[in-house]
Amino acid sequence: MGGATDANLYAQLRARFPRDAGAPFLETPEGRVVRYADVEADTSRLARRLRALGAKRGDRVAAQVEKSPEAVLLYLACVRAGLVFLPLNPAYRDAEVGFFLADAEPAVVVRDPARGEAVPQGGAAHATLAADGSGSLTDGLAAEPADDAIARAAPHEPAAILYTSGTTGRAKGAVLSHENLASNARALHRAWGFRPDDVLLHALPVFHAHGLFVALHTSLWNGTGLLFLPRFEVDAVLAALPRATVMMGVPTYYTRLLADPRFDRARAGHVRLFVSGSAPLLAETFERFRARTGHAILERYGMTETGMNTSNPLDGERVAGSVGPALPGVELRVCDEAGGVLGANEVGALEVRGPNVFRGYWRLPEKTASEFRAGGWFATGDLARIDARGYVHLVGRAKDLVITGGLNVHPKEVEEVLDAHPDVLESAVFGTPDPDFGEAVTAAVVPAAGASMLDERALLAFARERLAGFKLPKRIVVLAELPRNAMGKVQKAELRARYTRAEP
Ligand code: AMP
Repeated sequence: MGGATDANLYAQLRARFPRDAGAPFLETPEGRVVRYADVEADTSRLARRLRALGAKRGDRVAAQVEKSPEAVLLYLACVRAGLVFLPLNPAYRDAEVGFFLADAEPAVVVRDPARGEAVPQGGAAHATLAADGSGSLTDGLAAEPADDAIARAAPHEPAAILYTSGTTGRAKGAVLSHENLASNARALHRAWGFRPDDVLLHALPVFHAHGLFVALHTSLWNGTGLLFLPRFEVDAVLAALPRATVMMGVPTYYTRLLADPRFDRARAGHVRLFVSGSAPLLAETFERFRARTGHAILERYGMTETGMNTSNPLDGERVAGSVGPALPGVELRVCDEAGGVLGANEVGALEVRGPNVFRGYWRLPEKTASEFRAGGWFATGDLARIDARGYVHLVGRAKDLVITGGLNVHPKEVEEVLDAHPDVLESAVFGTPDPDFGEAVTAAVVPAAGASMLDERALLAFARERLAGFKLPKRIVVLAELPRNAMGKVQKAELRARYTRAEP
């Protein structure tokens, strides 16, 4: 057990808790308030419970629970106790959960009581936690004593494992250390200019890095409160906005707000900063948001394995379509296929190095080795160019690159052209198998509101004026909306699968 000087993330956060222990940490729409004093006491109690269930330092604690204040306290309790938190999306089916549990071998599994114990847990202890905070994990907790102990942790000791969604191949557990998380919290807290009166609107899920780390850690590092919504829902967000100063979201949140006429300059007036990430923010959304509210959404870029890598500036130009320059302490470079470092504006594989970058995938040393280059550079799998000012422009995922007739087509380049057509809201470009070309450029297009019919030939003619022939879609399909996952990412693998067999 150690003091605030050691590298345990909880110790670092606690050192920054507000002097007034009665200050709010989480506030729910029903008016329930979890105060900083509660964080300190309840994480101590939960840590003791987890130890009583058999969890020892370094053991994993898997949690497939709904978003609730208790889910957050469980996470912080694990960090505090030197246990490794493993959040699982509540949408996962038992078969999927079975894979994660077999792979991670947790000592304790916490699930919603409604799920039962259907999944083989390999001897792990079982505890329950419901969305309302009740369950065997918390039953009678408030009556138990609390102490101020924090487990010692070395900087590189694991604090969490997050399985990456990985659209191809098996899911991999990214092991994040106390220092990975703490360094990123520190960098973001500074970059986004957190203030003593900030209140963060939290509508994100807490099984993903965005909602679990970026949003929670910046507030904890700042010692301020969050308006904690169970999910993104337009009415609830509109109701909370007049009290919020910072909102973090995926692009879909902002397009849904824009679709509601009640969202206007006055409604956004108390907020000082809207942050977007996890998926590309359309330049069109950026511009519409600015026109409606006067706010330039700040777009940043990161991934599970690295935390946040770049951010548009708080002061200075926020460029639509760019994710901004590298955060302080983070190094970025763009490389060609042979590993040579490319110059300004050349498109290639984006690599990152810094204290935020994880050390490897859980029990996958070969996979880990194949993703790291000499000198500790991690290959993000994103294609990008870095302009002369250092702003990063993402071009797509390397594996989404379409190779047609031996020529490379970056989907983003085609999507940008299609999106520029007035009848198009958004598009997704991907490759489908083609006997002639190997892969054929295929486009799924969502019509703009008010566009009665999408004239595919006119759209193609529009694209032909702006793109080389080999980049033109061989096929355009019109969809009411693009398939997206919980973090707003377009599911290109699903689109590829959907249109691989379907007849033209
Ligand atoms: P995940 O590990 O699930 O957070 O996914 C990380 C991936 O999301 C990155 O490698 C990017 O491909 C994508 N991503 C994250 N932020 C952005 C952004 N602002 N713009 C475009 N793509 C993003």
